[in-house]
Amino acid sequence: MRVLRLGMRGTDVMEIQALLQKIGYKPGEIDGIFGPQTQQAVIAFQRDNGLTPDGIIGPNTYRMLEPMLLGYMRYSIQAGDTMYALARRFYTSTARIVAANPGLNPYNLQIGQQIIIPFGIDVVDTNIAYTYEIMERDIQGLRARYPFLEVGVAGRSVLGKNLYYIKLGNGPNQVFYNGSHHALEWITTPLLMKFIENFSKAYVDERNIRGYDVRDIWDQSTIYIIPMVNPDGVDLVLNGLQPDNPYYNDLIRWNNGSTDFSRVWQANIRGVDLNHNYNALWERSKEAEAQYGITGPGPTRYSGPYPESEPESKAVADFTRNHNFRLVLAYHSQGEIIYWNFQNMAPPVARRIGELFTQVSGYPLDETYGIASYAGYKDWFIQQYRRPGYTIEVGRGRNPLPIQQFDRIYNDNEEMLLLASVV
Ligand SMILES: [Zn+2]
Repeated sequence: MRVLRLGMRGTDVMEIQALLQKIGYKPGEIDGIFGPQTQQAVIAFQRDNGLTPDGIIGPNTYRMLEPMLLGYMRYSIQAGDTMYALARRFYTSTARIVAANPGLNPYNLQIGQQIIIPFGIDVVDTNIAYTYEIMERDIQGLRARYPFLEVGVAGRSVLGKNLYYIKLGNGPNQVFYNGSHHALEWITTPLLMKFIENFSKAYVDERNIRGYDVRDIWDQSTIYIIPMVNPDGVDLVLNGLQPDNPYYNDLIRWNNGSTDFSRVWQANIRGVDLNHNYNALWERSKEAEAQYGITGPGPTRYSGPYPESEPESKAVADFTRNHNFRLVLAYHSQGEIIYWNFQNMAPPVARRIGELFTQVSGYPLDETYGIASYAGYKDWFIQQYRRPGYTIEVGRGRNPLPIQQFDRIYNDNEEMLLLASVV
């Protein structure tokens, strides 16, 4: 973490602003700009925590903030501690502490025993630019708070970032959701991350969500989620082109000479559009490039040199081959629409399930035409398995969609995410 101070900008500033607001300070607008109001909020936080009130987030202040970013801390049991008192002191519940510490006997705490205390705040922020780094920290936080989650790595991006998957449930009916194939469509990552958090919370609290019994889903189904298929692309869009990027000069060339990637870049870091890189009439996707003036790597629609040429698409295809998914959802943004077919290969049940999705989300069904109709993930899944596969396009407007649309998008999609695991 770099030292943050007045005048700085960035996704890291935005993350700290969101945290300060969440824990009761007033940093002003969550805009990624370290202005005077954010500085005042930092000073207030420092005063309350016995830190030098200089308004700068250096190592000491960051050390106090970090557990709250993660959503938990490690704690050593002291004489006189009780579960109830700990829960009160850290604004959490005994059920959450028990869930985070499997095997702990809450009636027999031992002095010096190390436990995890999950704070009573949510981990996944849905009002900030959601970078790979933020996702990674949130996964770490969720895993500590909800140790029943299985977290793994399905592969690595071109630049070596982990393609994380999270597994919810233990049932025989396997489904798979993924997000952010397209860099500008990163809002689909916090959508899936928030779903993981809410699902886990409901599981611990033994609550239903929208009438769905989460424990039932857990036993019937297994939901695999890769929330960010294209982390290099997402970080290029959100953090800009960094000088140490090994494709620095290429990227500027591929981007028609521009160093601004924030409104145009959909591809991975080698300029391949991952959702045109699967082996489903890939040749047609390739042929169609000429009509769109595409001659090589670029911001969008370049299909790559051959199917699954990219480590990200290859990893997602391998992950699919290594499981037995009854149904998949590939999340994209823009259009509030559900694509459900590929070359009439979808089974009859796919339309019926799609109609149920329309009922719970309000998104109508549609079929794709032209270049967008080949070589996508759901196209490949339908062709390969003849099972239900969907591209869900959330939100409306121009990509990247503003994060202010998040609540509405989440509300539109939550039931579909539950239903898809049991339908
Ligand atoms: Zn897309």
